[in-house]
This record gives sequence, structure tokens and C-alpha cells, in this order.
Amino acid sequence: MPVTSREIHLAARPAGEPKASDFRMVEATVPDPGPGQVLVKNAWMSVDPYMRGRMNDVKSYVPPFQLDAPLDGAAVGTVVASEADGVPAGATVLHGLGWREYALLDARHAQVVDATKVDTQAYLGALGMTGLTAYVGLTRIAPVAAGETVFISGAAGAVGTVAARVARHLGAARVVGSAGGPEKVRRLTAEFGYDAGIDYREGHLERRLAQAAPDGVDVYFDNVGGDHLRAALALLNPFGRVAMCGAISQYNATAPVPGPDNLALAVAKRLTLRGFIVTDHQDLAAEYARLAADWVRDGSLRTEETVVDGIDHAVDAFLGVLRGANTGKMLVRL
Ligand code: NDP
Repeated sequence: MPVTSREIHLAARPAGEPKASDFRMVEATVPDPGPGQVLVKNAWMSVDPYMRGRMNDVKSYVPPFQLDAPLDGAAVGTVVASEADGVPAGATVLHGLGWREYALLDARHAQVVDATKVDTQAYLGALGMTGLTAYVGLTRIAPVAAGETVFISGAAGAVGTVAARVARHLGAARVVGSAGGPEKVRRLTAEFGYDAGIDYREGHLERRLAQAAPDGVDVYFDNVGGDHLRAALALLNPFGRVAMCGAISQYNATAPVPGPDNLALAVAKRLTLRGFIVTDHQDLAAEYARLAADWVRDGSLRTEETVVDGIDHAVDAFLGVLRGANTGKMLVRL
């Protein structure tokens, strides 16, 4: 039986900060699966800041979203009809066709996951790409050595909360995070494993970072760019490393953003600044999955989430993640 599925389309390319009218809810009829295909009823979908970049019509590492076509992104759900060997009806799968209630896809693009030991939405967060991003950044891109000081921006977010735990496991002596607002900053040290937290909205970032990291910074995990990268450059120790993961402070920029005015410090301090995209580092996925499973079991990796209910509120969730409405992973429960 073909099913009716609501899905979110891009109605207009946002100029600056996206608004609700840039999106449209559309009702679509999803056909029965053909040979090799599965029909998935989505249960959870990931909401990611990087989607903002895909709303611009520019060439990047991933193609832009098309106007009047559904958005996509990671999702988990249950196979409700299958014409594929190895992915039977009833299986829980991770795949890339979120932003809709039902997804029809080739079974080779669906990964069967174990839904018996962890909450399935964890595969979108700490146990999935989010967690792997933190792990790749702190092991391969800007490796942390025992005894070092690590600074993480976006510290209370999805990647940031995992990054603090990863830094701890790598033996960091001091982990400093920055986040927006007193409640998030309180939770950095009370719950997320940080030694010190900075509220960047209070300003004077460089001075606050100097206080929080009295021995300087050895590794900076950059989720934010802009003023945060500038402050980190000022505080980085000789031979310091920067994992350039994201630059959320400039995702809504409408004009080119100048680089930090102290970039030349990279020469004198012999710094390494390296950008990365997690999908280029799938070779670390199995290693991370094993470690993360152990850490979840021993309680040293918690899966912090902000849950928004219903596809009707999915756009609000996206607008919210850009403004800091989330702590930990922003998810929509469909
Ligand atoms: P988060 O859960 O961290 O959500 C985004 C957070 O960014 C918000 O909660 C908000 O927190 C913060 N923020 C928004 N605007 C600003 C600003 N102007 N200055 C400082 N902070 C701001 O998202 P993710 O963990 O999913 O992603 C974190 C970063 O990592 C993003 O930049 C993302 O694009 C990037 N990323 C990169 C990947 C890669 O492969 N390179 C893979 C996955 C993510 P607050 O309330 O503290 O301001």
C-alpha cells in the first residue's frame, strides 16, 4: 500500500538567518519498494548546523539542497516493507533520508543497527557521526597528548559534549569549554566533564580564556571560528594544534568574513591549523564505535540530547540549533 508522508522542502534560499517561510511542509505519496529497496518509517532525525551551508547555491564538499525538493539528513527508523535481502521488515536502520516521515531507499544505503542495547537515536549523536567528529578531531587532526590543555568551543553542543569526554580519555590534564549563557556554562563543569567554562556572550573572550587556561592551550577544537579562533590563537602554546571543525559564528554571514587579525601568530608559535570533514575519516569509524560502546557502558560517555517532537516542529529545531536552543544533540522525534 503506498503511504502518505509529510516532508520538509526548501522553499527559498535564506538570506542571512533562515526564517520559517524559507521552508514548506509537503504531503507526498511514497510508492511501494521496488527490487532492492526498503520503505522506512522514520523515528528520529538529526538536525545539523552544516545544513545551513547547503541552503546556499554554492559548490562545496556536499551538493546544495534543491529548491522545492525535500531536505535530507541522517535518520533512524524501522523498515516497514522490504524487497531487499538482508534488510528485513522490522529492522532498525540508519540512513540519510531524514526530513520526511517515510523514506524509500536502496537497501545498500541503509545500515542495520542494534536497537537492543542503546536508544536508537544515539546512532545520530554520540555513537554516530557526531561522536566520530569529536574523535577524529582530537586523535587525527589535532592529536591530544596526555597532560595537555584542550579548549573546545560550542562546548555544550552535540560535538562539544562528546569532545570533552574524548579529550579526557586521551589524558588531557585540563579541558576548557565555551558556550552561550550561564546555564550551559554551569552544566559544562557540573555534567559534561569540563574543568572550566567560559560564557562567550559576556565578552572579553581572550581574557577569560587566559584565566581558564593559565598554562595556555595545546589543542583547540574549533566549532565556532571568528572571535573564538582569534582568542585561541592568542593563547595557543608553541607547537599547538587546531582542529577546524566548524565556523558556526559565520554560517549566516551575508558578506565575506575577514580572518583573525592575529593569524601570523601561527608562524612564530609553529602552530598547525587543519580543517577536516568527518566523512573523509570513515576508516576510524569502527575503532570509535568500539571505544564509544565501552565508554557508554562504563558511564564515561553520556548522550546528551535536546528533543523536539513532530515533523511540524522540525523547522523550529533547525532554526533553534543555529541560535543555541539545544544542549547536546538536537533531534526531532517523528
Ligand atoms: P551544536 O550542537 O554545537 O549546535 C550549534 C551550537 O552553536 C548552538 O547550540 C550554539 O550554542 C552555538 N552557536 C551558534 N551561534 C554561535 C556563535 N555566533 N558563536 C558561538 N557559538 C554559537 O552543533 P554540532 O555539534 O552538530 O556542530 C558543531 C560544529 O561542528 C558546527 O560548526 C558544525 O557545522 C560542525 N560540524 C563539522 C563536522 C565536520 O565534519 N567538520 C561534522 C559535524 C559538525 P551556544 O548556545 O553555546 O551559542
